[in-house]
Amino acid sequence: MSETNPPPFRRDSFKKTSSHDRRTFLKRALGVGAIGGAAVAGAIYIEDERSPTSTTTTRAPTTTTSGPATATSWAQLGASLTGSLVVPSNPRYGIDRLLYNSKFVNLHPRAIAYCATPDDVARCLDFVSSHELPLAARSGGHSYGGYSNSDGLVVDVSRMASISVDTVANTARVGAGARLIDLYNVIGNAERLLPGGSCPTVGIAGLALGGGIGVFGRKFGLTTDNIRSVTIVTADARIVTADENTNSDLFWACQGGGGGNFGVATSFEFNVHPMPDVTLFTLQYPWAAAPTMLSAWGLWINTAPDELWSNCQLLSQGTYGYLPQIAGVYCGTPSELASVLAPLTSMIDTAPTYSFNGSNSYLSAMEIEAGCSGLSIAACHLTTQNPSGRLSREAYSAKSSYVNAPMNDTAVAAFIGAVEDLHAHAPTLGGGLAFDSYGGAINRVAADATAFVHRDKLAGIQATYSWSSATSPSVIAAGARWLTRLGDHVFDSTTGAYQNYIDPTLSNWQSAYYGSNLTRLMSIKRKYDPDNLFSFAQSIPLTP
Ligand SMILES: Cc1cc2nc3c(=O)[nH]c(=O)nc-3n(C[C@H](O)[C@H](O)[C@H](O)COP(=O)(O)OP(=O)(O)OC[C@H]3O[C@@H](n4cnc5c(N)ncnc54)[C@H](O)[C@@H]3O)c2cc1C
Repeated sequence: MSETNPPPFRRDSFKKTSSHDRRTFLKRALGVGAIGGAAVAGAIYIEDERSPTSTTTTRAPTTTTSGPATATSWAQLGASLTGSLVVPSNPRYGIDRLLYNSKFVNLHPRAIAYCATPDDVARCLDFVSSHELPLAARSGGHSYGGYSNSDGLVVDVSRMASISVDTVANTARVGAGARLIDLYNVIGNAERLLPGGSCPTVGIAGLALGGGIGVFGRKFGLTTDNIRSVTIVTADARIVTADENTNSDLFWACQGGGGGNFGVATSFEFNVHPMPDVTLFTLQYPWAAAPTMLSAWGLWINTAPDELWSNCQLLSQGTYGYLPQIAGVYCGTPSELASVLAPLTSMIDTAPTYSFNGSNSYLSAMEIEAGCSGLSIAACHLTTQNPSGRLSREAYSAKSSYVNAPMNDTAVAAFIGAVEDLHAHAPTLGGGLAFDSYGGAINRVAADATAFVHRDKLAGIQATYSWSSATSPSVIAAGARWLTRLGDHVFDSTTGAYQNYIDPTLSNWQSAYYGSNLTRLMSIKRKYDPDNLFSFAQSIPLTP
């Protein structure tokens, strides 16, 4: 993403090239990145009025005829939409078909429907059903597996991106196409907070439907835990609201069941929270201290207060060598954080090579987290998705796992060895392991209370490596072999995998993503999508 100021602690900073990281460290050392947000308590903030939110069960008028889709029927679909339809002859098609991950090059949908209303979505679903075409819903386009692309119709919700905050009720209404940075901007300016992920251009739909791990997760839960209701267009083209009382089974499935499985979400209502004081920190160590650091981090985070979120990264930075670091966000003041950090630094018992500890506003923290500090909100978007955007797409591959408890010496040695393995076999690649703390509010939710089953974890682990267009195919292949070795020999396949880091190479993905919730998810799938309209390589199946 931006080279301007991605911070050392950024959750996905290990995807950056080494030079990004080096420059970042310098900037962070200089204290770059504090920008405040303004707000007026009690007001309702409305960013964009384009997204109507239906709370009733309705069905869009159907004009579609059946049979193979012809040029005429595509044109009729386009004419029927409040939004627009981009077909291959459209000059925008070459850009509009792209996803975030630039490794997905073979993307040739028959058309991309930019739906401006839930009725538009319903018309698209009628259309694909009648013409027996595949479809995929797309919000931010960040699916790790490229599952928001389709050979048929891409139903894009990015025009439904309105965000409004009710600071009296502490709720936010959010169009399903809103990008995280816009969400944090509007919510932050209302002096409220919604826990969520770090990448500024991720779409709220994909994030919230599959979980939503972020720096305020231990204090306020996953994004999905904060959904109050979702408006969703089901396979039969009905626009329905799902919440605890209405279509409660569908609501349950939308809380962690994963995007693209049960319908096309058009908007959400979330709980939002008053903003706490926020303090950021980073500690970096020499590689020789990495085993002690990882071991100490696991013990420390296991008993840390909810106010603390932290991650531990073991990075191989190409020619810059290794970087082990612990970073995080604390809901409190720097002096409070200092006493929380003391047991950690005492256990590590090695002087950090770099340390940072500073207070920030929520919005500023999320901008730093996003790698957008110093950029305007408009610039903190992809060049392919926004004319003012300054951020670039990335090519990367990833694999996820979990640790359930503090790591023993064997586990620590295996993780350290895995990063050394990456450096040995692909010395020019940037990549490594990131351990993201769970616990706190995330783990207080019962495993079957929502579809998100991973409620007993100490930390999620993400292994990633990234490359540029200059990287040779043999080096990229070496990275892929590293991920395979990691999955086969280092990650514990019984601990699960995070469905939002969806992994096309994972063989036991059904149990890994959904565990004991899979059976109920399949039954809800049979009820709401009996013909399996919403189908992709790792979609919830109708039967085992
Ligand atoms: C750089 C980067 C950083 C990330 N950081 C985090 C993080 O900090 N925390 C975290 O939890 N995750 C993170 N993720 C993972 C992210 O949550 C998932 O990739 C998520 O699915 C992306 O959502 P999207 O809408 O952008 O993607 P899309 O590709 O648009 O959608 C993802 C899936 O959801 C489906 N979908 C999209 N829109 C809808 C809709 N309206 N209704 C129903 N289904 C829909 C798609 O069909 C697809 O299957 C990150 C991803 C990237 C690439």
